[in-house]
Amino acid sequence: MLIRRIYDVLFNTFGPQGWWPGDTPLEVAIGAILTQNTAWRNVEKAINNLKKEGLLDIKRLLSLSLEDLKELIRPAGFYNQKAQRLKSFLLWLLEKGGCLTEINESTAEIRRELLKIRGIGKETADSILLYAMDRPVFVVDAYTKRILSRHNIIEEKADYDIVQAMFVENLPRSVALYKEYHALLVKLGKDYCKSKNPLCETCPLKTVFMSD
Ligand code: SF4
Repeated sequence: MLIRRIYDVLFNTFGPQGWWPGDTPLEVAIGAILTQNTAWRNVEKAINNLKKEGLLDIKRLLSLSLEDLKELIRPAGFYNQKAQRLKSFLLWLLEKGGCLTEINESTAEIRRELLKIRGIGKETADSILLYAMDRPVFVVDAYTKRILSRHNIIEEKADYDIVQAMFVENLPRSVALYKEYHALLVKLGKDYCKSKNPLCETCPLKTVFMSD
């Protein structure tokens, strides 16, 4: 099966990616919100600012003024929207008891609630579910769509849910596998399947698609 073969080749080529970087589920979720439309190195700077102040704690973060939060996360870009988004997410989390891994609700229900938070879309919600909460939800992003659409497996503007369903239907339901697969697609997208001038000649997937 193609979807599984792609995974095997990527894993054998790149090895485990150790995703998602972060010491706690809260830090992972904050990273997922801050990484929207920006490079990870900028997110790291913002998270380090919070860490230095000992603020990676839901109550301490919520006690900050919006202005102070904006200043601290400024390196992540779009800090006005992201500070508001972060506050809304933290308020939701507090209402749920304050600990992501102890929320005793179905994955579908949590996803519905996350998607109601302004500025949290499917990719961010699913990243929080998978990487911060260990829920079996496959994350789809622009790299995933680019790689698959370049081989006509999906349309370039394919609907998020359709792409997600394709992975779920063709893989065992495994949190570890979903985590690794998404990380490997990001690695491939960054290093080979670039938006301009993809490096097809040396791409590890070249043989997979040629033999199909
Ligand atoms: S770099 Fe080329 S061969 Fe590799 S996934 Fe992208 S389009 Fe396919």
